Amino acid sequence: MTESITQEAVVLEQPGKITLMDVSIPTISDPNDVIIQIKATGICGSDIHYYTHGKIANYVVKSPMVLGHESSGIVALIGENVKTLKVGDRVALEPGLPDRFSPEMREGRYNLDPNLKFAATPPFDGTLTKYYKTAKDFVYKLPDHLSFEEGALMEPLSVAVHANKIAKMKFGARCVVFGAGPIGLLAGKVASVFGATDVVFVDLSETKLERASQFGATHVVNSGGLPHGVTVDSVIKKEIGKKGADIIFECSGAQACIRTGIEVCKAGGTFIQVGMGPEEIQFPISMIPTKELTFQGCLRYCQGDYSDSIELASSGKLSLKPLITHRYKFKDAIDAFDENRDHPLNNVKTIIEGPA
Ligand SMILES: [Zn+2]
Repeated sequence: MTESITQEAVVLEQPGKITLMDVSIPTISDPNDVIIQIKATGICGSDIHYYTHGKIANYVVKSPMVLGHESSGIVALIGENVKTLKVGDRVALEPGLPDRFSPEMREGRYNLDPNLKFAATPPFDGTLTKYYKTAKDFVYKLPDHLSFEEGALMEPLSVAVHANKIAKMKFGARCVVFGAGPIGLLAGKVASVFGATDVVFVDLSETKLERASQFGATHVVNSGGLPHGVTVDSVIKKEIGKKGADIIFECSGAQACIRTGIEVCKAGGTFIQVGMGPEEIQFPISMIPTKELTFQGCLRYCQGDYSDSIELASSGKLSLKPLITHRYKFKDAIDAFDENRDHPLNNVKTIIEGPA
């Protein structure tokens, strides 16, 4: 592959400090291993969160960690048991490897495996290197007409697909999305493709809401810009009807949104908590039994979500290109992270190209 035994990586040394640093190049140690040459990586909100705070919930960065988990690339090396891939294949890689013998794996919910080894979630290194090792069945071939950038975005798209599947999205559904960041935008777009007729976006940022409008929102509500005495739930209900929404995707984690979401979810409706915000908040829990709401969390993605995402993007029903707002070369990765940290509103998705 290469004579040198080290490669450059984008390493979070400690909160607030990212360095381009040499790390060792992975080698095949299991016959089912695949080594991918990384071609494109999206910056995720979680990467920025680790950069600024050094932790998410109880995942704490205690030692230097390679960043990045939304990646695509080319198969560079395969183990002897790998028959479904060959060197040179263009692929997207699913960045979390479960324990194959865990009860969660047997139950078909490997995303819940507490020992899942997820790229760039401490203590596991991420993908922002030249070569990254993973397992053959967590690598998905990309159709020729999908770019590496689009391949990288299969990761956030898979979260949106997973959220829609657990919401049992169906034709005619009226849904409300709180938070018009990348995951919210994708959740709303997938909802439309799955048949939702109303997709209302709620956010505080006009910039984000404009993007939501261009990305398929049927209505947008600026929860920060309402006239005195007008409530967010009354505006939402004006758009989707008094009964309320069939499905809520809460992608902000903010208390005000969770409260409003429960308020505008119709009796018998489904509330999906996707976003992560403060660890504890206050909300009207009595509405959950009185309206018999289904209140469910959504964690990343599970089997079928990556392949369905590729199918969706490949079908042309959903274009990911409008989400890509910035591109940086690998050598400028630190600037990319700084830009995302300092000007979050300017960015939807930043792609780091390469290394080479
Ligand atoms: Zn991500």
